[in-house]
Formats: sequence, C-alpha cells, structure tokens
Amino acid sequence: MTTPIISVKDLHKKYGDFHAVKGISFEVMPGEIFGLLGPNGAGKSTTLEIIETLRTKTSGAIMVDGINLDQDPNAIKKIIGVQLQTAGFYPSLNLTELMELFGGLYNQAVNPLALLERVNLQDKAKAKFKELSGGQKQRFSIATTLINHPKIIFLDEPTTGLDPQARRNLWDLVLDIRQKGATVIITTHYMDEAEVLCDRVAIVDHGRIIALDRPDKLIDDLVATGFERPKEMKQANLEDVFIQLTGHELRAES
Ligand code: ADP
Ligand code: MG
Repeated sequence: MTTPIISVKDLHKKYGDFHAVKGISFEVMPGEIFGLLGPNGAGKSTTLEIIETLRTKTSGAIMVDGINLDQDPNAIKKIIGVQLQTAGFYPSLNLTELMELFGGLYNQAVNPLALLERVNLQDKAKAKFKELSGGQKQRFSIATTLINHPKIIFLDEPTTGLDPQARRNLWDLVLDIRQKGATVIITTHYMDEAEVLCDRVAIVDHGRIIALDRPDKLIDDLVATGFERPKEMKQANLEDVFIQLTGHELRAES
C-alpha cells in the first residue's frame, strides 16, 4: 500500500466564535491531482492554508510527506509550492527580475528563462508583471511555485476569471506538472475542470467533507439514485461552440 503524501485528520479551525472547518479528514496520494470543491465560504482556502503552514489550526493532525506539521513546519515549507495572490507581485519589475527575486527568497539559484519556458512565457521575459493578461499572470504565478522543485503544489482557484482558452492552457500546465512527478492539490468552481483534471475530489460544504471520490464514481453514484437531468442534453454546449469558433490555440493575450 502506498503511503499518503498528505494526511489530514479531524481538522478544525475557529475564527473567534465562528467554526469554519468542522472536522475535515482526507488523504492525498503521491502523484495525485486532488480537488477541493465547494461553495464560497466552505472552508477550502482555510484548509489549504493550514496545510501550507500559513495559517494556524484549532485542532487536528496533519502529516505532509512524513513530516508532522506540529513538529517541523519549516521542513514542510521546503517541499511545497504555493501560488501566492498575484496582487502581491512588484508590478514594475519584469518577469526575469521577479523570478530572480523569488529565487532569492527561496535561496535557490534560478534559471528564469527555463522557468518561463515551462509555462510558455519565454516571449514575456522582459515584460512587466502588470502588462500581462489574466491567464499569463496565473501562469507566471504557477512558475514561481516551481522554483524550489516542490513535491506538492497548492493551487487555489488558479483559473477563476480566465477565458476558455486560457483555462484549457492552465489545465495542460497542471497535467504537465503532475506528469513531471509532483502532487497537485487544487480548488476550483468549475466542475468541468475538476472532471478533466482531478483523480479524486472532496466536496466541502459548511466546513465538512460531504463527499469524496473519483469524479466518475460520484457521477455514477448520483445516477444510481435514479437522478436524471431535467433537460435532454445536446451533443455540445455553448462552451464547445465558443472553443470551436475561436480555436483551441493559446492567444497572445491569454
Ligand atoms: P472558501 O475558500 O471555501 O471560500 P474560506 O476558507 O476562505 O472558504 O473561508 C471559510 C469561512 O471562514 C468563511 O465564512 C470566511 O468568511 C471565514 N474566514 C476566512 N478567513 C477568516 C478570517 N481571517 N477571520 C474570520 N473569518 C474568516
Ligand atoms: Mg477560497
């Protein structure tokens, strides 16, 4: 049996009187893309930030790659990559300069161009962060998570607000990161995205996990209850029309 790379047991988080996370438990296997799904306010970001050691927990046990979070949070920091809120980037540095700055923060020698190539931003090496499109900003921030060659990468809503091409381009990037050996834990509000990317998903609501399985299994379970879609599905949807008309290829602006 494989040992989980992340194990969360009975995690609770209270913000004052407010009980935001009410006993969450799950395990993530090495090489998995694991999704946390759920409405706004469900407790997804709180859970991720606790595992990332950026937020304190109220109670519960967390192990990351054999490291107990209570005993050695710094050792966890060294093996994870966390996508920061893009608003935090110095707007007037160019991407090469920003990569060097981040390398310094991680105490790592970086090859900015190689990292930018990894996320298809080599042409933007001299562009300033503020000049990038939404999709480019997301790709750049994902590139910064790769600087320390992390075993686990945390992506909190990396595709929110992106156009369909940029969103698909990020899917390819996430799959490529996993292909190269990392474990990915991701949140998203797009169920099509979770279906394409995630090996397993946990559905979180009001601070609790209410379902956890492979997307395919969750769908089969729903169908087995006798559920039927209210409307006959067509062979395509409006997103298919959009992609068909505007093309799959990544735009300069995406
Ligand atoms: P999600 O990422 O699923 O949208 P969050 O983990 O961000 O949810 O938030 C869960 C709940 O905790 C929300 O009701 C939110 O308002 C609350 N919350 C988050 N951060 C804080 C904080 N620093 N102080 C007080 N309440 C917070
Ligand atoms: Mg959130």
